[in-house]
Amino acid sequence: MRDDLDLHIHTAHVGCADETMSVPALLARCEELGRTQIAITDHLNGPQHLEAQAKIREELPSYEGPLGVTWGVECTIADAAAGTLTVTEELVEQFGFEFVIGGPHGRYNATDPDEIIALNHRLMLATVRNPIIHSLVHPWWFSRVEWDRGTMTWFEDMSRIPQWHVEELAEACVETGTSVEMNGGAIIHHANYTDRLKDDYKAYLAALCERGVTFTLCSDAHDIEHLQRAGDAAAFLADAGVPDERIVVPAPSSL
Ligand SMILES: [Zn+2]
Ligand SMILES: [Zn+2]
Repeated sequence: MRDDLDLHIHTAHVGCADETMSVPALLARCEELGRTQIAITDHLNGPQHLEAQAKIREELPSYEGPLGVTWGVECTIADAAAGTLTVTEELVEQFGFEFVIGGPHGRYNATDPDEIIALNHRLMLATVRNPIIHSLVHPWWFSRVEWDRGTMTWFEDMSRIPQWHVEELAEACVETGTSVEMNGGAIIHHANYTDRLKDDYKAYLAALCERGVTFTLCSDAHDIEHLQRAGDAAAFLADAGVPDERIVVPAPSSL
């Protein structure tokens, strides 16, 4: 089992993660946890995040430790109707990102459960088919706010998601060489996800694996105490029967 990877980490710069996630502190903690290869992937959801991204990039070259560090970014959906992303080829070029992860982050005002599922599926496919994307982040993650609103309370297991969705997603991933993320923080530690839902999620990963999909492992940490969740993701993926050779290890960036 590969438990030495964490390919989705936030920093204190953008401000979604807390102040414990300074770049030097998070790198030191990843070393302590026995990681060998990580990716820094803070949010780039719009022009408000450009300055913070530049600061992270500036800070990375001062690291001289043993970790392989890949310079990456997390993007979200820019326009749900068009299926576009908040990171473009131009931004990848401008910042020199070498690992781009992204996917939908909500229900985009859909209210009917089947409509939410169909929209999420369409946006996941659009993400996977976008040539800048290396990994699709946390499939079927929805914010806990949606449970407070009552719009996701039906999501207690994955039985409502049609089997052909799994097939279509797997096919798009294999065709484009895009990985699917196993996210410790967003999925395993989600306060609203039932054990039944997590069992279904394991079967979902197994079904994608059977169809040839590759995977990435991560914590999605926004607090330094949550970096260990990449280890939980590794155990979860191994439990789903995904072999090490299907786990993606990106090349470290020369920073
Ligand atoms: Zn995310
Ligand atoms: Zn994230």
